[in-house]
Amino acid sequence: MEYHNNDPVDASGWTQTLLSADPETARCTSDAYDYVLPRGAVARAELDDPHHDYPAIDIQIPTGTPVYAVTSGTVSHVGGGYGNGIQVNGADGATYIYGHLDSRGVAAGATVSPGQYLGESGNTGNSTGPHLHFEIRTDGVKRCPQTMLLALYDGLTPPAPTSLPTSGCSY
Ligand SMILES: [Zn+2]
Repeated sequence: MEYHNNDPVDASGWTQTLLSADPETARCTSDAYDYVLPRGAVARAELDDPHHDYPAIDIQIPTGTPVYAVTSGTVSHVGGGYGNGIQVNGADGATYIYGHLDSRGVAAGATVSPGQYLGESGNTGNSTGPHLHFEIRTDGVKRCPQTMLLALYDGLTPPAPTSLPTSGCSY
């Protein structure tokens, strides 16, 4: 293949496009994970609490606290012991479950982005007080969400869900 001087390549236009990209916007939209609660909802120390019986976490928060998607994915509604539960089938291949919501704010089948509003926390289902139950599974195996939540609270890139421990966070 030969190139000629009259090929329609506009080098100055290309450079202009690169320089006009907003680095702040680019960084925000490329963040794959976000914290699941308003920053001030609970103290950082609450985020490493062990869960009863199996890997997960119960975060004590008042009913009506907004809950956000930890990562992008597709929503389904789950019930039973979860009450008004939301499951996000993550684009990263992991499954994220939010239990005991007072109300769901997204429809089943909806796609969500990291940090997107999912609903209000509550006390529905098998729950003895207002809290958010948060659970992560990879290939059906429950993982400890504590180190992921701590990293997100700190504004850091969280560990990959498949690298989270499968024990040591329950009693
Ligand atoms: Zn729980």
